[in-house]
Amino acid sequence: MPRCESCNKRWRLKQTIVKTSAIDVDLGMNCPYCDELQFLDAKSLKRNKVWIFFPLIMLIVYGLLNLWMSLPFWSFILYLLLIVVIFIVFYPRSITVTNAKPLQS
Ligand SMILES: [Zn+2]
Repeated sequence: MPRCESCNKRWRLKQTIVKTSAIDVDLGMNCPYCDELQFLDAKSLKRNKVWIFFPLIMLIVYGLLNLWMSLPFWSFILYLLLIVVIFIVFYPRSITVTNAKPLQS
């Protein structure tokens, strides 16, 4: 989970997902504790873009598997749950926030 560089408090899961999924995340996010503006560091910005495609790629993989061996409907629900669990477990760990806006490459 990301830790605010100003107050050093660790953001909660829901706060992290809500804050970092904003369209204008590049403009910074206010820390839920000290209200100081925080930015994703350069690495997190790149990872954030990869995570956007993660559910899409997973759904394409499922579609191909389904074509190959026609999976039952309940497996789709399980698969969606798996995507959500992977996202919740790994996404917040891949995020770091800083006080300074990273230089755009
Ligand atoms: Zn803070």
